[in-house]
Amino acid sequence: METLSIKTENKFRTLISKQTYLKGEAICTMPSENIMDKPNRYTVQIARDRHTHVGKLAALNHSCDPNVILDTDKMLMIARRDIEKGEELSFFYPSTEWEMQAPFICLCGAANCIHVVAGARFLPLSTLENHYLNPHIRDLMTELLKNTRLHLKKLQEG
Ligand SMILES: [Zn+2]
Repeated sequence: METLSIKTENKFRTLISKQTYLKGEAICTMPSENIMDKPNRYTVQIARDRHTHVGKLAALNHSCDPNVILDTDKMLMIARRDIEKGEELSFFYPSTEWEMQAPFICLCGAANCIHVVAGARFLPLSTLENHYLNPHIRDLMTELLKNTRLHLKKLQEG
């Protein structure tokens, strides 16, 4: 955690790496303070009905082409690609969040930008497939697809 610093500019916080990391390297453990059953704009979802405050990592911004992943199974932040010293760290919010309490418009500029960041449940499978997803997001997505299929079947049967 001491290899990370928070930069604040116009009340906008960013998390900066103070050293280089190689792809796949664990950067730090995810702090877990204050577990709640409902999300807010500062929490990270770590299981179907568990949301936690993550200390310094709350300064992590979203990107559609992120350089870190949050592994909620191992509770680790891991480099998704090589990271330079001084680089801002970001992760793909829908990789942990199913339904966000405070959706926003993404201006990351990535070619694959999803534009509306509201949680995994609002994204097509074809988009989610290109990202690292935590087990609770995979489970919830499988459930949603199963329910949709059942619903369609009922409609067809009249
Ligand atoms: Zn984006």
